[in-house]
Amino acid sequence: MLVIMRADANLEQINRVINGAQERGYRAHLLRGADQTIVGVVGDGTPKLEEWFGGAPGVQEIVPISKAYKLTSRDFIRRDTVFNVDGATFGGPGIVIMAGPCSVESRAQLLETAHAVKEAGGHMLRGGAFKPRTSPYSFQGMGEAGLELLAEARAATGLPNVTEVMTPEMVPLVCRYSDMLQIGARNMQNYALLHAAGESQHPVLLKRGLSATIEELLMAAEYIMSHGNRRVALCERGIRTYETATRNTTDINAVPVLKARSHLPVILDPSHSTGEAQYVTAIARAAIAAGADGLIVEVHPNPKQAMSDGQQSLTPEQFAALVRQVAAIAAAVGRG
Ligand code: PEP
Ligand code: MN
Repeated sequence: MLVIMRADANLEQINRVINGAQERGYRAHLLRGADQTIVGVVGDGTPKLEEWFGGAPGVQEIVPISKAYKLTSRDFIRRDTVFNVDGATFGGPGIVIMAGPCSVESRAQLLETAHAVKEAGGHMLRGGAFKPRTSPYSFQGMGEAGLELLAEARAATGLPNVTEVMTPEMVPLVCRYSDMLQIGARNMQNYALLHAAGESQHPVLLKRGLSATIEELLMAAEYIMSHGNRRVALCERGIRTYETATRNTTDINAVPVLKARSHLPVILDPSHSTGEAQYVTAIARAAIAAGADGLIVEVHPNPKQAMSDGQQSLTPEQFAALVRQVAAIAAAVGRG
């Protein structure tokens, strides 16, 4: 539910609405735009806003939003959300590119990749230290030692990083080393994790679940935002369909649909959505043409030797070519 304040509402009138909602057990989010101030009221059950604030001084209108997601919805916030992760801009006029290995494997591997990503024009380094592997016998990641290497790579290249966090208990640890938390496809509906990531106030890259609908993705983002964390980017990473020619099926429709339904930045992961290096660049181009705000791409100095996802990892040279091609598409659709 939204309380739209009059353009001339003063601070006292705005605070009366915020405090009134909070006293009744609801959370209130203040959204101040250049020409409008809105108080979003969320919580369990339906707040009786008309009864509490209808006709109150400074209140212009009360707008019920019946959707199960509110803070993530464009009905709630019309303008694109734009945020910065240590110099990398999400949701702005430009495209943001995150790249790096599936897993952090060693100091040499990570630093070599980080320098290559930086040189090719990437804005952030990706790399998993805690890996959610389908088989318990596959490489599970380097753990905290991997996080330390991500921080070292940041010091060496200036690239901020994004890395996966798998449990709520691990959120403080991962926040210490990382600039953005990745919540993986397998954890999209891990509500305790979404809650902890929301409370951390750290930027979050939320990946779509393997079989999740767009609406379920938006509701998962709502969990994060309902704890006051506004810096959330949505990531399409392919969904499971009957098609077996590729690892997953890129739901390219999700890009314009998410942009229409939500104000949050939309990122596409062509590595996991195709599962094969030879298709990654084509789908990266398609993503930007479709209106995505950025990409997350797996890059490895020696894909054949990668400890995870080598088949879909680009070499540094292939990644540099991807960046050049994506730049041309970005320019063609009026993005930087
Ligand atoms: C990854 O980014 O390496 C990963 C595990 O992705 P997803 O959660 O999309 O499978
Ligand atoms: Mn991977």
